[in-house]
Amino acid sequence: MNPVRNSKKNANMLNVVRNPMAAEHSTKREISNGMKQKYDFDIVVIGGGIVGLASAYKIAHNHSGISIAVLEKEDELAAHQTGHNSGVIHSGLYYKPGSNKAKTCAKGRKELVAFSKEHGIRYEICGKIIVATREKELANFEQVFRNGLENEIEGIEKIGPNEIKEIEPFCHGIAGIRVPCTGIIDFSEVAKKLAELIEDKGANKVLKSHKVLAFESQDYFTNVVTNKGSLAARYIINCAGLQCDKVAKMAGVEAKMRIVPFRGDYYELTEEAKEKVKSLIYPVPDPAFPFLGVHFTRKIDGSVECGPNAVFSFKREGYGKTDFSFRDSWDALSYRGTWKMFFKNWKYGLSEYTRAFSMKLFFRQLQRLIPSLAADDIKPGNAGVRAQAVGVNGEPIDDFRIERRENSIHVLNAPSPAATASLAIGDYVNEMAAEQFNL
Ligand SMILES: Cc1cc2nc3c(=O)[nH]c(=O)nc-3n(C[C@H](O)[C@H](O)[C@H](O)COP(=O)(O)OP(=O)(O)OC[C@H]3O[C@@H](n4cnc5c(N)ncnc54)[C@H](O)[C@@H]3O)c2cc1C
Repeated sequence: MNPVRNSKKNANMLNVVRNPMAAEHSTKREISNGMKQKYDFDIVVIGGGIVGLASAYKIAHNHSGISIAVLEKEDELAAHQTGHNSGVIHSGLYYKPGSNKAKTCAKGRKELVAFSKEHGIRYEICGKIIVATREKELANFEQVFRNGLENEIEGIEKIGPNEIKEIEPFCHGIAGIRVPCTGIIDFSEVAKKLAELIEDKGANKVLKSHKVLAFESQDYFTNVVTNKGSLAARYIINCAGLQCDKVAKMAGVEAKMRIVPFRGDYYELTEEAKEKVKSLIYPVPDPAFPFLGVHFTRKIDGSVECGPNAVFSFKREGYGKTDFSFRDSWDALSYRGTWKMFFKNWKYGLSEYTRAFSMKLFFRQLQRLIPSLAADDIKPGNAGVRAQAVGVNGEPIDDFRIERRENSIHVLNAPSPAATASLAIGDYVNEMAAEQFNL
């Protein structure tokens, strides 16, 4: 019996019809079980972000006889986290040695660079500097450097104030770490190339505007019910990013975590001020929340972003400061873990919130790294929403989390640096699928 929970009730309410795309394009395979049950795809991947696409790509390229459909609810691929991030190819410096993040970031980074070179995707290994501006940051600074050595990040070195100035003439600091292997890229371009390569193989499809609404379990396959009808699949892989807990729940998986969305607002340097940043300038991270702390990022299109902050978002896919969804807010705020996290970290939360609504405070934070920055050097920029998985105890889940069930795999936590690590995460999902689904 297929363990993907029978959502017949939902499916019936949705008035399920066969998906015309499935009928047109799928392989219509048969399971030789005597009953000759037909299905459309061996594997359906939910989510056309970089993790879903990299996973599908790796499976397609390692198992030639397998048919895969990637379903994306939006009209475009990479519409959420993958298309709303800083575009940094992270080195892997910060992550706990031995963690999945540390292992897959370094491996994924090298593979991403080779992939981009091979497929003509724009990228640049411009390096970054981490800059301490005050004595009290030096203990964390040393810890970050030791961590980098332990993670064997190539070429990292400590630098002094003069070398900081040589690399970034407008930056001021008392000590720095140079990380030469950090780079920049547009992850949406990577996602689109992956989709192309997936469709190049066999009967694979990447179907946009297909929102997965429910799963209807049959004996030998699962009907994946979408807004455009249903597709029959033997196995499902959930890479739904900000919605991954909801998709897991639809499949009957008790994930013991929930996605709590955090919005990050960016500012952008004006055309005239752009010369103040050559590549990437980061502050010393707080080990408890390494993703906090505003930084300067030169992007592959030449613009320079500064930010982001991190504030609770009342809408999972809401990019405006006042965006609100009752359903999403209820999901997050009716969860005990969210409140435990808020109570434990209220000081961080408060300071992030004040900066979200005060350009002056945000600006002051930026000025620590570039003292000559003037208020009219910055203008409001883009925003992104992070899918932060939070456990019932209120602890943010730090490492990547991928769980398997009999006929399904669920990527339940893939925060930064998952875009950098995506090809290595894809390898991991591929290996898990090969074992679990007997590919
Ligand atoms: C502000 C910010 C800055 C970041 N900076 C960096 C960085 O510089 N470097 C880095 O490596 N990482 C960075 N990250 C992290 C990185 O962007 C994410 O880890 C990565 O994009 C996750 O990819 P994903 O495919 O899991 O999720 P997503 O890109 O969110 O994709 C999930 C997809 O699933 C789709 N989906 C959801 N539900 C359904 C459904 N029911 N049916 C069909 N489709 C569905 C969504 O529409 C979405 O397209 C950053 C993230 C944020 C938010």
